[in-house]
Amino acid sequence: MVPVIALVGRPNVGKSTLFNRLTKTRNAIVAEYAGLTRDRQYGEAKWQGRTYIVIDTGGISGDEEGIDAKMAEQSLQAIEEADAVLFMVDSRAGMTAADQMIAEHLRKRNKRSFLVANKVDTVDPDIARAEFSPLGLGDALPIAAAHGRGIGQMLQAALGEFARDEGADEEEAAEAEVVAEGEEAKRIPGPSEKDGIKIAIIGRPNVGKSTLVNRMLGEERVIVYDQAGTTRDSIYIPFERNDEKYTLIDTAGVRRRGKIFEAVEKFSVVKTLQAIQDANVVIFVMDAREGVVEHDLNLLGFVLETGRALVIALNKWDGMDSGERDYVKTELERRLFFVDFADIHFISALHGTGVGHLYKSVQESFRSAITRWPTSRLTQILEDAVQEHQPPLVNGRRIKLRYAHLGGANPPLIVIHGNQVESVPKSYSRYLENTYRRVLKLVGTPIRIEYKGGD
Ligand code: GDP
Ligand code: GDP
Repeated sequence: MVPVIALVGRPNVGKSTLFNRLTKTRNAIVAEYAGLTRDRQYGEAKWQGRTYIVIDTGGISGDEEGIDAKMAEQSLQAIEEADAVLFMVDSRAGMTAADQMIAEHLRKRNKRSFLVANKVDTVDPDIARAEFSPLGLGDALPIAAAHGRGIGQMLQAALGEFARDEGADEEEAAEAEVVAEGEEAKRIPGPSEKDGIKIAIIGRPNVGKSTLVNRMLGEERVIVYDQAGTTRDSIYIPFERNDEKYTLIDTAGVRRRGKIFEAVEKFSVVKTLQAIQDANVVIFVMDAREGVVEHDLNLLGFVLETGRALVIALNKWDGMDSGERDYVKTELERRLFFVDFADIHFISALHGTGVGHLYKSVQESFRSAITRWPTSRLTQILEDAVQEHQPPLVNGRRIKLRYAHLGGANPPLIVIHGNQVESVPKSYSRYLENTYRRVLKLVGTPIRIEYKGGD
């Protein structure tokens, strides 16, 4: 599982500054709560090649009333969702009553917490450390979020224990090696024998995820179901359909109660992000009656960034008239151009219409995502593409692209070797990507292209 760290502390200690530094503001998801000026933000970040999730919180000031009280409530929820808490204090301002209150809460919850003294550019780090020792949370880790100081040591402390995720070994067992010219052998994940294709059902609250999960499972043979899970984790449901194995990663929190499945939990961003990370294929559910909303685009941005195979399900297609349907289709074309590689299905989870067809897209996109293309094939496609349309001249010299090999799967990573590759324009990369997509008949998966120079 992808580890989650929460940034908590009173307002103005530097939480947002640290959040932005850690996530480089790639695609923050803002959990929306009416009436709040500052909400929880979720972002993905990387430390030593490992992905983790950061939650920024509004802040706890200690004398919460009205909006402040809600903000504090959001912070407390973030603490619950996190594996580790970075409790930030302000070295320049010194210790306050609010700091003491938060420290007490963390101690009571017995949460893995790290005291982080920010803004040590303004005071002596030793003084900062001594200042906050009465909080009883050990030595403060001194940082200056605004200047990037102390960040490495802080992350080592908070994330060191999560150095390797549990799933990795299992994945590795199912990996095959692809040896490429001039390249070290890279490991490429394949489908897991045990789980089959892992499908995450993702979407905003109320779009129909639980209904879809029920519909998909209602018709199939569920092998094992009742799993004890914490409220934070998605539920993994292995099942078979037409002799194919699948595992559904259910973020809606559907649990079996007697014979039917019921949603018992609310939408959780953490759960959603973790499920995306852990899936082979994401079925992204949207509500046709609401059209494409900002939060959908936000979540889709995350799916794209992780590179997972993607199938889009426009749910609640029942009972819409043709005018409404046309409108939605136009909207989709206009706003979902950035994931135009994904199949779109118009379904009714409630009535079951179109649900069966999702499987074909799931399988095709999965196959596209994990096929091991030989170096000779990828190089041939590159040569043909270059012949048809030469890369541009840079300082009077032409960019040379010599050969290509596969560097990873799910998403496929195509590594292209050549000269002056750092100057390949984006538009040319897009041309190559489109060519690979077309010739290899890839559907439902993004492709990554990476260049290696000097040979
Ligand atoms: P938040 O309310 O906890 O999210 O705090 P912000 O990230 O908005 O920061 C509050 C103020 O502290 C801003 O003016 C930041 O520029 C400033 N700040 C943040 N980190 C540092 C730091 O490392 N050193 C200094 N001197 N100022 C900082
Ligand atoms: P979740 O929060 O994404 O898990 O959404 P639910 O599955 O709980 O569905 C939210 C609401 O939408 C419920 O009232 C469902 O009955 C309704 N719903 C789900 N799928 C459909 C559908 O295909 N058509 C219609 N008309 N309503 C649906």
